[in-house]
Amino acid sequence: MKNVVLLGSTGSIGTSTVKVAEDLPERIRLIALAAGNNSELLLDQTRKHQPAAISIHDPAKAIELREALGTACEVFFGAEGLLKLAALPEADIVLIAIVGTAGLQPALAAIRAGKDIAVASKEILVMAGEIVMNEARKYGVRVLAVDSEHSAIFQCLDGKPAASVRKLWLTASGGPFRDAQLWPKEKFAEITVERALKHPSWVMGRKITIDSATLFNKGLEMIEARWLFDIEMARVGVVVHPQSIVHSMVEFVDGSLLAQLSTPDMCLPIQYALTYPDRAASDRVQTDFPKLSSLTFEAPDPERFPALTLARRAGEEGGTLPAVLNAANEIAVEAFVNRKINFPQITETVRRTMDAHQVVAQPTLEQILAADVWARHEAAL
Ligand code: MG
Repeated sequence: MKNVVLLGSTGSIGTSTVKVAEDLPERIRLIALAAGNNSELLLDQTRKHQPAAISIHDPAKAIELREALGTACEVFFGAEGLLKLAALPEADIVLIAIVGTAGLQPALAAIRAGKDIAVASKEILVMAGEIVMNEARKYGVRVLAVDSEHSAIFQCLDGKPAASVRKLWLTASGGPFRDAQLWPKEKFAEITVERALKHPSWVMGRKITIDSATLFNKGLEMIEARWLFDIEMARVGVVVHPQSIVHSMVEFVDGSLLAQLSTPDMCLPIQYALTYPDRAASDRVQTDFPKLSSLTFEAPDPERFPALTLARRAGEEGGTLPAVLNAANEIAVEAFVNRKINFPQITETVRRTMDAHQVVAQPTLEQILAADVWARHEAAL
């Protein structure tokens, strides 16, 4: 039985995690849940799963929840609440699925309390991958991937060291504008918010869906892979695979390739992270080979999707630059969704912010957070 703390229980990954816990009641116990704003769903989840503690962002909502739940469950709030849950003595693993940078401090708190962490919030590894992985080594805990691509690579690597790897291949669906005939570069300025929010193969949160359309999601995943698997950026490649069946691949030094496949369902990587090193029987994910027809692969187009080049640059230069890329992208996506900038300007905003940044090498956490704040301000200009 694993005692799981779930930070971000009402979002897309959070609700899938709750499903996985319901599939495997003999293996997974949700002992704490944290949500941002959706106190109604958090209340439902709490009544059903009876965690020992919960947390919500807004203190006023915490008071309402306390009244509704009585003494059955401890109710915390705000950033402090997340830190409390992350370090609960009974916890075995903390799954962090909070959008944005708010997951970083709870991740470090969990590691320092000796907990394994399962990371769904890419920002944690993109911004502070070196610090997080160093702390995990120091405290002897695991950092498990919840992202489908990184889970695939983790499953294929199966403990082999980076020295046995020629290249990690992240697969990308290519997003809704993959087809160069339908969507030549000249038409990118006409892309509407509604069109960009229609993802061909995955149903996800709004920010990550826009990131999949620009390919910034894949760019962030390249940096994530670089830290998670302790491998330099030059050995992290991207291949477009529109069917989203091959979730990623490892090419070993002898030329052999291992891939992990299934119909796309986030419950699978979540389950693997929470049951690792076991595989738990579940009927949820089924792959019907005759229905798959063909699996295709193509090189990404850097002309139409410069996000990959920007992410490679950020990952190679390192220091505070990945945090700047991440923060500028968040601001630009927000501006696009609010119809203040057009689709190509998302990438332009990130490039402009990166160009204006004075990179700090080997930054402290404080310097990373300062670069994040600086980039948000700069990107909004
Ligand atoms: Mg992914």
